[in-house]
Amino acid sequence: MLPERKIIHVDMDAFYASVEQHDNPELRGKPIAVGGGQYGVVAAASYEARKFGIRSAMPGRMALEKCPHLIVVKPRFQRYKEISQQIRTIFYEYTDLVEPLSLDEAYLDVTENKKGIESANDIARAIRQRIFEETGLTASAGISVNKFLAKVASDYNKPNGQKTIHPTQIMEFMEELPIEKFYGIGKVTANKMHEMHIFKGADLKKKSLEELIRLFGKSGNYYYNVVRGIHKSEVKPHRIQKSVAVEETFWDNLLDEDSVFKQLQLISEELETRLAKKEIKGKSLTLKIKYKDFTQYTRSKTQEVYFAGATDFFETAQKLWELRPFDKPVRLLGLSLSNLNTQEKKQVSVQLKIPFKEFE
Ligand SMILES: [Mg+2]
Repeated sequence: MLPERKIIHVDMDAFYASVEQHDNPELRGKPIAVGGGQYGVVAAASYEARKFGIRSAMPGRMALEKCPHLIVVKPRFQRYKEISQQIRTIFYEYTDLVEPLSLDEAYLDVTENKKGIESANDIARAIRQRIFEETGLTASAGISVNKFLAKVASDYNKPNGQKTIHPTQIMEFMEELPIEKFYGIGKVTANKMHEMHIFKGADLKKKSLEELIRLFGKSGNYYYNVVRGIHKSEVKPHRIQKSVAVEETFWDNLLDEDSVFKQLQLISEELETRLAKKEIKGKSLTLKIKYKDFTQYTRSKTQEVYFAGATDFFETAQKLWELRPFDKPVRLLGLSLSNLNTQEKKQVSVQLKIPFKEFE
């Protein structure tokens, strides 16, 4: 058996929104959303805005309905990247086994750390303290024996807190954990589980592996294990992506070019947001169209220089759209960027949060 690992999940609190409030004191104590507005999607909401039910990935229009005096701030990704770099530098003082999930979140394996500190709890506290001293921002942390537990734990005492799940506490913690707080269980699955009277870990634990696989496919295996505190995925220091995609399925098929362009504009913006968050650029853009009759069409354009951003994506997408072979109602549109500025050949699949669409 492998020796037990010590894993920390560090997560900045309402990152983009906190940066804006930190840099501009007039925004402090007020409900703000970074990104959004009439046509965009909320990238981050301050804690004051969350009280109105505003969440990231929510359409800006909906956010404004929930809170008419919401202050919408334009994202400044350059600034977020700068701070992200600062916090990563702090992480590397403790360990090289750092796996960033995005600009503001990372897993750290501190089993053998550079400072020879025994307690992962102490390391997490020190890191949070350093982050605060250097950036003026708060972070939360979860500490346990694997990534799943650390990730769940970091949410527990948020904001500006930390939580350790000791090996002896894992079973009890997981049994009490509400099903919607399981990392990797989205809204759709949570609802399905609620219908089956699975509300917390203890209920999930009563299901056999066979039953879970029958109900949830191969995810059943994952649910069966994590509820028992088993999650073998290691902290991978280099997550290299081959492509980044944003897709959207429409409840009502799109019937005319105007609505297609409107959606492509939104998807282009969302793609830009996702890329900025992951510090990625690319030279190939692919448009994917799925029609009402489920036939599918993709067309790509590769250029010499990196695509510049949303406007560039949108203009190229329009040209690719014009090359399509049919004129039929559209049920899905997607844009993906490949040929990225990430050199290694290894492929890692990415899951993106998309507005209007459930993701698991
Ligand atoms: Mg965060």
